[in-house]
Amino acid sequence: MKLTDFQEAFPDDAACMRFLEETVWANGRHCPDCGCLNTVPLAGKAAARHLYHCRDCHKQFTVTSGTWLHSRKLPLTKYFEILYYSVNSSFGMASTRIAEWTGVSQKSVWKILQAFRELQGFWLTMADKLANTVEFDTKYVGGKPRKAKGETGQKVKNKRGRGTDKQPVFVAAERQGEVRATVVPDESEATIRPLAEAQVDPQAHIMSDGDGAFAKIARSFALHSQCSHRDWDFARDGVHNNTAESFNSWVEHMRDVHFFVSKPHLQRYVNDVMSRWNLRVAVEREVTHRGQRVVRVFMEKMPLLDRLRTIFVHAVGCQVRRDRITGGIAVASCRSCPSY
Ligand SMILES: [Zn+2]
Repeated sequence: MKLTDFQEAFPDDAACMRFLEETVWANGRHCPDCGCLNTVPLAGKAAARHLYHCRDCHKQFTVTSGTWLHSRKLPLTKYFEILYYSVNSSFGMASTRIAEWTGVSQKSVWKILQAFRELQGFWLTMADKLANTVEFDTKYVGGKPRKAKGETGQKVKNKRGRGTDKQPVFVAAERQGEVRATVVPDESEATIRPLAEAQVDPQAHIMSDGDGAFAKIARSFALHSQCSHRDWDFARDGVHNNTAESFNSWVEHMRDVHFFVSKPHLQRYVNDVMSRWNLRVAVEREVTHRGQRVVRVFMEKMPLLDRLRTIFVHAVGCQVRRDRITGGIAVASCRSCPSY
């Protein structure tokens, strides 16, 4: 979707409010406080503010009441514009860039995006478990550690893969489906097992590389196949973890956009990549392969408005609060979230 088309669709706050109301109240307008459907729109000046009255608890509300978009200081159109740049880009967008284009300060853009990334992680804790074929892998994120000096004073080569000083991220990817990526303190069985069991259906077919910890964890699932990358085996009879590896390359691309990501914020940036990956649909297409017409499945981006709808359906039910002491961001409450 072009920026001009987007601006035409959302010229003012009223248009944004209408879009939110259509999206969030698709199954009927409900009071965010008591959840009842017995509500009426207010007349006069209140109508311009999109205010509604609940006949049960006698409270007034709008579609953003009790959500992260409530009591905002910026116009709603700015939030939409910021999300447009972030969601419409292939590998995310730096807050400094968006600040230049929207005229909002970099600090505000960063805070909005961080709150939004935190929410993305929060919804995934309530999402359906991954099923069918699920690939496990570990991604190590971070720059190359400085070369350490050994006992003899000679430079020691840093380890690659397991045992490196980089930050491990556990990746579970459903083939032609969603992905779950979690920043973990280490890649031991004790750390990864509870995550895998919470995120993946027990009937799933697990595929992984030759990692010993994955082999032990996979015993809790219906089936396990592995290909040993050490023995140069990367794909055999449909057994591979290329989907997870492909997601890992998306995480790697993060470095082209965000030049510095600190460890405490890493999960939020991974959430960003994850939602970009998950907001896609499988599309069947006929292609020519070795002179023959064959049907292949491609993963394509959802149309922008559909992606925004999915985001807002979840976002509008949740509040995000910033912890003044630690500076951390957390989802404070989620009352009217449909999936809650
Ligand atoms: Zn009510």
